[in-house]
Amino acid sequence: MTAQHTLAMIKPDGVRKRLVGEIIGRYEKAGLQVATMKMFHMTKREAESFYKVHSDKSFFDSLTDFMSSGPIIALVLRGENAISKNRELMGATNPKEAVEGTIRKAFASDIEKNIVHGSDAPETAEKEIRFFFSDLDILRSNP
Ligand code: UDP
Ligand code: MG
Repeated sequence: MTAQHTLAMIKPDGVRKRLVGEIIGRYEKAGLQVATMKMFHMTKREAESFYKVHSDKSFFDSLTDFMSSGPIIALVLRGENAISKNRELMGATNPKEAVEGTIRKAFASDIEKNIVHGSDAPETAEKEIRFFFSDLDILRSNP
């Protein structure tokens, strides 16, 4: 198996609750390497663009308000099965359904403010990494 890349985000609630170190520690302990990362305060329009697959959902307006309410940390994680490994670490979208030991079970307050994002497939990982980073960002931090 070759290493995969995935896009993770610590959402505004995770940054506000000062969980940045805790969450990155969980990625690293699970064998995922931080390939590159940055802090970024999205505008409402940028949040709408990032989440455009959900533009027809009832929660879209509230979600994009939340995602533009404060800075996020965007990270590219690298490792074997990085996409599914990160999804396992995150837990279910709704924290009430998340398995014990997952990030969302431990820290999320509700289905919207659920602390972290993670790409769900290779095609979305590629697209989402491109939303925040260039090839150079990744190459320069991993010479
Ligand atoms: N979301 C929401 N209400 C819902 C479903 C999702 O507010 O009923 C938000 C939540 O923040 C979630 C994001 O929209 O993380 C994207 O939804 P998706 O179904 O892609 O969940 P994820 O992949 O983040 O688990
Ligand atoms: Mg999703």
